Amino acid sequence: MRNLPLAAATAALSLVLGARAEIDLKNFDLTVKTEDDFYHHVNGTWLKNNPIPADRSVWASYSEIDERNQTNLRTLCERVAAKTDGAAPVEKMVGDFYASGMNEAVINALGAKPLQPELDGIAAVKTPVDVLKAIAHLQSLGVAVGFAFGSSPDLKQSDRETGRIGQAVDRQEWGMTPPTVNAYYRATNNEIVFPAGILQPPFFDFKADDAVNYGGIGAVIGHEMTHGFDDSGSKYDAHGNLNNWWTEESAKNFKARTTAIVKQFAAYEPLPGVHLNGELTQSENIADLGGVKIAYYALQKALPDKPRDPVNGFTPEQRFFLNYATIWRDQMRPEEARRRVNIDPHSPGQFRANGPLSNLDEFAKAFSIPDESPMRRSPETRVTIW
Ligand SMILES: [Zn+2]
Repeated sequence: MRNLPLAAATAALSLVLGARAEIDLKNFDLTVKTEDDFYHHVNGTWLKNNPIPADRSVWASYSEIDERNQTNLRTLCERVAAKTDGAAPVEKMVGDFYASGMNEAVINALGAKPLQPELDGIAAVKTPVDVLKAIAHLQSLGVAVGFAFGSSPDLKQSDRETGRIGQAVDRQEWGMTPPTVNAYYRATNNEIVFPAGILQPPFFDFKADDAVNYGGIGAVIGHEMTHGFDDSGSKYDAHGNLNNWWTEESAKNFKARTTAIVKQFAAYEPLPGVHLNGELTQSENIADLGGVKIAYYALQKALPDKPRDPVNGFTPEQRFFLNYATIWRDQMRPEEARRRVNIDPHSPGQFRANGPLSNLDEFAKAFSIPDESPMRRSPETRVTIW
């Protein structure tokens, strides 16, 4: 999905956007207390009103955006494909590409024949080196073989694997298409990337106030930045090279803190009796905790010039945390939840919201969370990494 000119071209055309980033009380479940389970307090009614579609295993905040992006892209493609004259070059390219993809009669008549040279190439693979070459070639065509650019937020491992395969790294090349609802950090380039696809509500809305945007895309930006300093990103230096730049003492302290976050998340049960894998989710949990904290302090820097009046009865700090819980809303079928526990480095949304917030004094202060409540971890178990 990396080299499609179509994706870049369609993104250059104007999109019809929907939805607003707004703290919406209609999505709350006020029977759940803030201090007991902030995620369900903020999202309880949304979860009830947005069941998982029959053909899906997951439905989340980013699924809504992705669906809208797909609809927008299709509308654009149909519009330019229907243009008989006066089409700009970019419109002509997109229109022709789309029309060729929709021409079922020709596609059915040709069958798999156009793929034959590629299939022959795969059939000719004999040695491990041939396998690597074949994967590199297919990846360059946009075929996700060997490893994939998936759709759950941020995919740094994939990028590292690209480097490992030894393809020449084009430092200007994006690892995601513009409409992708996602973001990533790439250690080897020391870069963070946010495609246009994610710059939409509830992550970002240029009409929303700073508190809402910092709690949304701000926390995502902070998350990607923190990946540079998580358990694996910290092994790379400022030039993107594997290089130990830590003092022994800092490394020791870091290890003690990350062990605490592994323990925290290993205690969570997405399904009765099924625990999260604290090691597998470690990097992402470190990034979530660091990210929301960076974004909170960035908001504090931005606020002095802005009105602090409560909106809908909420202070800026409260709106920041309310939107943070909103961006992580998701639900999945039990089978999918069980599968992800084994393979997904990201924790389910409920824990991405409640896990970091229950460690933060800033959150406890914003909502006057009493000590010894579920959303306020005890001083001995409270985790601070960055
Ligand atoms: Zn991440």
